[in-house]
Amino acid sequence: CGIFAYLNYHVPRTRRDILEILIKGLKRLEYRGYDSAGVGIDGGNSKDWESNAKAIQLIKQRGKVKALDEEIHKQQDLDLDVELDVHLGIAHTRWATHGVPSPVNSHPQRSDKNNEFIVIHNGIITNYKDLKKFLESKGYEFESETDTETIAKLVKYMYDNRESDDINFATLVERVTQQLEGAFALVFKSVHYPGEAVGTRRGSPLLMGVRSDHKLSTDHIPVLYRCCNYSCVCS
Ligand code: GLU
Repeated sequence: CGIFAYLNYHVPRTRRDILEILIKGLKRLEYRGYDSAGVGIDGGNSKDWESNAKAIQLIKQRGKVKALDEEIHKQQDLDLDVELDVHLGIAHTRWATHGVPSPVNSHPQRSDKNNEFIVIHNGIITNYKDLKKFLESKGYEFESETDTETIAKLVKYMYDNRESDDINFATLVERVTQQLEGAFALVFKSVHYPGEAVGTRRGSPLLMGVRSDHKLSTDHIPVLYRCCNYSCVCS
């Protein structure tokens, strides 16, 4: 599959522009998977980006990226013209390995009905059955047939059982990846960490690009840089 994330950090963009960038990214990756596609974006139409980031919206569709694009434009509650100063969107085009192509099996996969944590995944988690059994024993209910959903639930489990309130997103993800077997490139987004994406990989490729008109220091994108386990392109 292809995974793609776009974070505009204090660079105003309309939601229409952001969705266009996500769709363009997916189209470039479509040759890697084309049975279904999905995006996870900040919902809400507020000028206050943090409140938007606490309302993650998923749009997923079976079929090609074009079908997803059409589905996006059918969403009644999304103001496409609202200008968003900070926004993180993640997007996925799937080549199913576990579970038939369908909206519920498409990515992003989520931790729960409130979309507290969402994740996009390229690869296969070979120990997902054991993880699923463990999470079910803790009361988690699964909605998809994917191996990926265990990752989304596991990150919530780690968060809900954190020993201190100030655990950062990258540390949380690192704890999750320690439990995973198989190959993966992942990008996570969460209502608990507005404006932050965490990307990580093992075996699958992942590339990060940074573009700025200003001189960027790593403080501007702390979490992404902390997890710099992949190639980086800056322009
Ligand atoms: N194993 C995951 C799934 O079946 C990801 C497949 C992919 O890389 O597209 O949903």
